[in-house]
Amino acid sequence: MTSFFQGPTAPADGAIPAGSAQDPVPSRVRVEDDRTGMHPAALRRAFTDHVQFSRARDFETATAFDRFVALSLAVRDRLVQRWSQTQRTYYEKDVKRAYYLSAEFLLGRALQSNLQALGVEDTYRAVLRELGIDLDEVMEQEHDAGLGNGGLGRLAACILESMATLELPGQGYGIRYEFGIFEQVIRDGAQVERADEWLKFGNPWEIERPEYAVTVGFGGRTEMVQDARGGFRVLWHPADHVLGVPYDTPIAGHGTGTVNTLRLWAARSHEDFDFGLFNAGDYVSAVQQKNASEVISKVLYPNDNFDKGKELRLRQEYFFVACSIHDIVWRYTKTHDDFSRFGDKVGIQLNDTHPAIAIAELMRVLVDEHSLSWDEAWIQTVRAFGYTNHTLLPEALERWPVALFERLLPRHLEIIQEINRRLLRAVTVAFPYDQGRARRMSIFEEGPERMVRMAHLAVVGSHSINGVAKLHSELVQSSLFRDFHDLWPERFSNKTNGVTPRRWLFACNPRLSRLITSRIGPRFVTELERLADLEPAVDDPSFLAELRAIKRENKEALARIVKRDLGFDVDVGAIFDVQIKRLHEYKRQLLNALHIVALYLRAKRGERVHPRLFIFGAKAAPGYRQAKLIIRLIHAIASVVNDDSRVPELKIAFLPNYRVSLAEKIIPAADLSEQISTAGMEASGTGNMKLAMNGALTIGTYDGANIEIREAVGAENFFLFGLTAEEVEARLAAGVPGRAAYEADPELREAIDFIRSGFFSPEDPTAFHPIVDELLGRDRYLVMSDFRAYADAQQLVERAFVDEVGWSRKAALNIARVGSFSSDRTVREYANEIWRIERCPIQLVTPEPGAE
Ligand SMILES: *Cc1c(COP(=O)(O)O)cnc(C)c1O
Repeated sequence: MTSFFQGPTAPADGAIPAGSAQDPVPSRVRVEDDRTGMHPAALRRAFTDHVQFSRARDFETATAFDRFVALSLAVRDRLVQRWSQTQRTYYEKDVKRAYYLSAEFLLGRALQSNLQALGVEDTYRAVLRELGIDLDEVMEQEHDAGLGNGGLGRLAACILESMATLELPGQGYGIRYEFGIFEQVIRDGAQVERADEWLKFGNPWEIERPEYAVTVGFGGRTEMVQDARGGFRVLWHPADHVLGVPYDTPIAGHGTGTVNTLRLWAARSHEDFDFGLFNAGDYVSAVQQKNASEVISKVLYPNDNFDKGKELRLRQEYFFVACSIHDIVWRYTKTHDDFSRFGDKVGIQLNDTHPAIAIAELMRVLVDEHSLSWDEAWIQTVRAFGYTNHTLLPEALERWPVALFERLLPRHLEIIQEINRRLLRAVTVAFPYDQGRARRMSIFEEGPERMVRMAHLAVVGSHSINGVAKLHSELVQSSLFRDFHDLWPERFSNKTNGVTPRRWLFACNPRLSRLITSRIGPRFVTELERLADLEPAVDDPSFLAELRAIKRENKEALARIVKRDLGFDVDVGAIFDVQIKRLHEYKRQLLNALHIVALYLRAKRGERVHPRLFIFGAKAAPGYRQAKLIIRLIHAIASVVNDDSRVPELKIAFLPNYRVSLAEKIIPAADLSEQISTAGMEASGTGNMKLAMNGALTIGTYDGANIEIREAVGAENFFLFGLTAEEVEARLAAGVPGRAAYEADPELREAIDFIRSGFFSPEDPTAFHPIVDELLGRDRYLVMSDFRAYADAQQLVERAFVDEVGWSRKAALNIARVGSFSSDRTVREYANEIWRIERCPIQLVTPEPGAE
């Protein structure tokens, strides 16, 4: 006997009302049902039971971390029923599923998301308050899941959340890194890295599933054998094996019954690992060596937009891909006898080329293990795969030495050679007298060291190739993959990135969410386009006054963090000028720094500058020298400017260890969003969307999604400056040195001279010469060329900010017009146009409440 279950606090439209605490339907839920019950008494009991039985603590002696784990387990219990029901429904209905393969998932914290997804945050807040516990303090205990570097990993997290909220059958696959993105500490003004021990005290969200472990081979040789029917097949005899153990994390839809799975693979030694040593009697050293295979999932490579080409990285990629493809094929074969419908049931999205080896792996499994013909296997493979490109930067495009491939993945190399042979034949047929084209399009790059171009493999093996913003997708088609676009124009499209409004508005900015709800109701949380209903309010002085009051409170909250962590007071009347993103030369934190120096020198001359707090958050890849030097420069400038009592208007706050949970605190307090990459180099950006959604105005270049944000919010509500992508290309081709702008612009010259003089580094006057030399010489990121336009645009910012009402009206228009930058819109496009999957609502069944 079952009954249809309505999420107790979820209205039929799926939106969770913000603000007031709701009383969940108590009648059908027994108080003693403390594993699933949503009534306050059940929630209270669930929490106290987990403190006592899961943490083995008296309520009085429980630590803050115990309380976090206990609450998380109580919440997880409530997800489990939906989770099983979701998976059962997908299985029974045999729906097509989309699998998102990504080497990175930058999830951040989960407790608040899950409380809100279930609609019990307010209830739990009240329940805990009665117990004398502050929910916000409990949530602060959670360590970020930092299994990613930046935008690419965070996109993967937003996409999974949106899929669950849209009730789409999907699953993520990745690596359970034991150490995520390093922890950044600042010592003497420089970045120092610490290991991110995020699992040290346990992770309450994951469930280990050793029964689904997968064996992955590496190395060895291949052998051609004749099968029973006289045909040939290839056997791969790997030299060694590693075990992949899955850990599942629930991804809950907001206000829906859907709970999808993120399955992350951890490497374990395989039992046959060097068992020769066991036989030789050297038991202890054999066991010691077993640990060697576990290094595969030990640590996330900390490079953003940069390919380091290390063997262990290739091992990581193949490891999680092989496990995932095995899992996907196994699940398909549970309900199908042959592979003719594989592409109807399975969509596999490649988040950049990191998992692109999946194309060769699926071919290997279908041809070698399931005896499909090459042609049958290839049709299903291309139907299944889609590839998302994330960058045009040459240093970020993955290339592996053929020799390394041959040693690590000999069978895959053969398969890639066959794919390439057929590709080049197709190219020759389509473009008969064009030798250069075949050479350019080959998966193999010829040269002193032959290389495998992973992007070419991804394009050839996918029916869909997309960029992540309009400009980026245009450049993908016109430059990076121009030849492929000539051959298969129908495969290419754009899918502009988005961010989940649950985390990046509803959760991180409760004050603003309440204001929006008071004006247009709560449905914007799952239907962000509804923010457009706010437009009439932008001419309502009381709305704008409330908006200003909220921004001020958010700025006060951030000011307390600055005081606590950096030790100085800030003026909340100052412009909170925010640049938070990975430190990379193309993102041009240097341009911001030069502007700070210029403003400082203006103030020293007695010119009026409006008070500003420059907020930075940025990790540099540990091996990226120039990026680390830029962090030192920002700190050196800060130590002079912050301590100069004659220039009290300017302050610089570099908040260490930028990560998702820190972003959630900075973004609601931002007045100005710095999106100042060299045009053509930022594929999309997503930080730009988060900040606009929270009422920051953007100062930005013609790059990535900036262009679309500006179109959406209106040119008069956006501070555009700088060269276009075309102009950038022309300038770089002409080789205009930075010195040209230096000679032409006295203010720029003074700022550069000041840095070069050692003023900011008296103990080491030449410390920043490598930066100055790059700027005056090649200036590869055109910092010098764009300086004047940037400084002038900043002047306009200052003038606009002084007009309080006018500024808040622009902020309100930004909020009202960013509805399309929800990852719900992005995911809908992937679902309809690439994956062709359909909504599959989960009807929750709950046991009849017995004899009631
Ligand atoms: C959104 C986000 C990013 C991406 O920021 P961009 O400005 O788009 O580069 C990077 N890191 C974290 C922690 C984020 O939340």
